Amino acid sequence: MRQIPLVNLQAQYQKIRSEILSVTDEVFSKGAFIQGEYLETFESQFNSMLGASSGVGVSNGTSAISLALEALGVGVGDEVIVPSHTFFSTAEAVCNVGAKPVFAEILEDEYTIDPNSIRSLLSPRTKAIIPVHLYGNICRMSEILEISEKHSLFVIEDTAQAHFAQTNKRMAGTFGDVGTFSFYPGKNLGAGGDAGFVSCRDQKIADRIRKLANHGRVQKYEHDEIGYNHRMDGLQAAILSVKLKYILEWTAKRQSKAKLYDSLLGERGFSSMRVPQDSSAVYHLYVLRVSNRAEVMEFLKEKGIGVGVHYPIPLHLQPALKAYQSASMNLQLTENLAGEIISLPLCPDTEDSEIEIVAKEFLKVAQPSQTMHRSRTRSAIGERDHHHLQSSSFN
Ligand SMILES: *Cc1c(COP(=O)(O)O)cnc(C)c1O
Repeated sequence: MRQIPLVNLQAQYQKIRSEILSVTDEVFSKGAFIQGEYLETFESQFNSMLGASSGVGVSNGTSAISLALEALGVGVGDEVIVPSHTFFSTAEAVCNVGAKPVFAEILEDEYTIDPNSIRSLLSPRTKAIIPVHLYGNICRMSEILEISEKHSLFVIEDTAQAHFAQTNKRMAGTFGDVGTFSFYPGKNLGAGGDAGFVSCRDQKIADRIRKLANHGRVQKYEHDEIGYNHRMDGLQAAILSVKLKYILEWTAKRQSKAKLYDSLLGERGFSSMRVPQDSSAVYHLYVLRVSNRAEVMEFLKEKGIGVGVHYPIPLHLQPALKAYQSASMNLQLTENLAGEIISLPLCPDTEDSEIEIVAKEFLKVAQPSQTMHRSRTRSAIGERDHHHLQSSSFN
């Protein structure tokens, strides 16, 4: 049976294999494993494509967020507003610097943080906001910046899923004080392992992040603060420079494939996220809402079609984050969404003919979501689906 994977990294590798092998050989031949010229080159290429003033390559997208928070002085006693509907890292990084994550609601059709919810959660302890450009959809940045300016808050954009998404030609990750990126292999721009990036508006913040990520050192064996080993490898930087040449082409493919899904599924009442005005989404994932998810997942898996759920348990319901939950939290839209979302195969190497097959099979069983006009209780969410969700191999 023909298998259609959720993401096809092998197909991508076959197209760039000789270039990857050649830079790998260069890095080994020069012994340029840690930092060095490949990292410098990648940093300047990525910064210039983003239009960011400065940026630092780091070990992964999670350390990128915690380094950014620490460099901005966010820590113990501070509150950081994050969406509840995101990958775990967003809140994990907040906890890792000793601050408290405060969970915000999403916009019903865009799946990104709701600025009104941010306003309702402000307190004298609020120090920062982390909007997450989830699925490659850009957040309502002008409204978020209005709030942050009015209340003197830092904005850290979690751009792990949104490389080169834009609003009015300005790139995601360059609106706030800092933008953090992940190059986890399954992300739109993926390394050959873990890697991440922090883009900064202020050179001083970039310098601080670079120092913190490198053992707080000012010279080889002189350390003026306690830092971490959160550096990006030379090998990852070299691989990323190869892939960066193709990223805009790959992004255009994601966008046209998402459009194809939209046109095949729209008539039957299914739609992906709404993209804000004057913005372009980069479709890290193609996500739909269905009311019978367990059934749809089982059916598609039987047909050899890779499906995922990103993410089944909202952060405010995660066992590890119990300490940050409160009875007064009302995140109904987030809970409804978590019970209904499903991700269909989409990457630059997904063939149009594969999308046609997926759409056809999907339409045989999927029922559109009814929740827009219906309220569900917390206990109804996900219970039945839960055991189907273990096999997703991408964040
Ligand atoms: C992947 C991801 C991260 C973490 O990135 P890693 O490189 O895996 O540490 C953070 N936030 C979001 C939204 C992500 O999707």
